Amino acid sequence: VNEESRLIARIARAIPSRPGGPRGGGLLVGVGDDAAVFRPRPGRDLVLSSDSFLEGVHFLADVHPPESAGYKSLVRAASDLAAMGAEPRFFLLNLALPARRTGKWLDAFLVGMARAARRCRLVLAGGDTSRHPTVAVSITVLGEMKASLVLTRSAARPGDRIYLSGVPGRAQLGLELIRRGLHRKSEWKPLVRPHLFPEPRLALGAWLARHRLASSMIDTSDGLSTDLSHLCESSRVGAVLWRDKIPRPQVPTELRRRGPNPELNPEFLALHGGEDYELLFTVPRPRAGKIPPQFQGVPLTAIGEITRRRRLRILDLSGRVTLLQPRGWDHFEK
Ligand SMILES: [Mg+2]
Repeated sequence: VNEESRLIARIARAIPSRPGGPRGGGLLVGVGDDAAVFRPRPGRDLVLSSDSFLEGVHFLADVHPPESAGYKSLVRAASDLAAMGAEPRFFLLNLALPARRTGKWLDAFLVGMARAARRCRLVLAGGDTSRHPTVAVSITVLGEMKASLVLTRSAARPGDRIYLSGVPGRAQLGLELIRRGLHRKSEWKPLVRPHLFPEPRLALGAWLARHRLASSMIDTSDGLSTDLSHLCESSRVGAVLWRDKIPRPQVPTELRRRGPNPELNPEFLALHGGEDYELLFTVPRPRAGKIPPQFQGVPLTAIGEITRRRRLRILDLSGRVTLLQPRGWDHFEK
């Protein structure tokens, strides 16, 4: 048995990976063969997405706990399935590691990934491991949904209401605390959690698709302003956001007292903070009454409206309208 087979066996033991059974249904061949074999049910569409999670780009191995790296790398990929309305089924894991990360670090990483797999009901179907000077995770997820119910980014129409799940900016606030070295302070640990262990909105995405309530959807990985601009560009429309309706994170006054800091402004965090993995979706007005104020305890808020005019704008209570500049995460800009 060579080192790679041992590593693969370790991964398969740590993460749900069994073909058959209630969650592995349809998976005929899983981890350990040359390829996985999946038999889809008739009348279902398959939904595929892949995502990278790289040391130095998406996380810092000396700052972020390995549990978080394992958890988040899988949740990010699963969130893209949520954004289509799909139910997650299987994933392929490509994991490249330096030798010094193959011991305890990897064990903790796998604990986090197993937690995300159970939460997302994802079964590991295969993958590959290799040596690399830094940690590089690449994940392909496969989801399934009833045929023709998929929710894309490109079907928002003027007049549609814009909804957002949860409170945007919480993940960014957690990251800002880490950047300032304040994440170990016990009273601020709950504020760091949304950055380390975001909750994917899988049940909400599938529910919206199943009941044909939304016209378009995207998950907020890059920040509300940036992801809204992606949705609007794909749909060839614009949007106006209602400033007073946008939920914002609570920033501790002690933190705000440290001096003027635009990055810790609650509205700035809400509009431009990344990695919340909330769902941003549009609903044709006749169906807006069917959107409840909460879904499984997560608030759903109408924050604006899609417009014919292809601009992002923000409307004050006073009636003043200003342009909204997308200022979230752009991988190639920063
Ligand atoms: Mg996405």
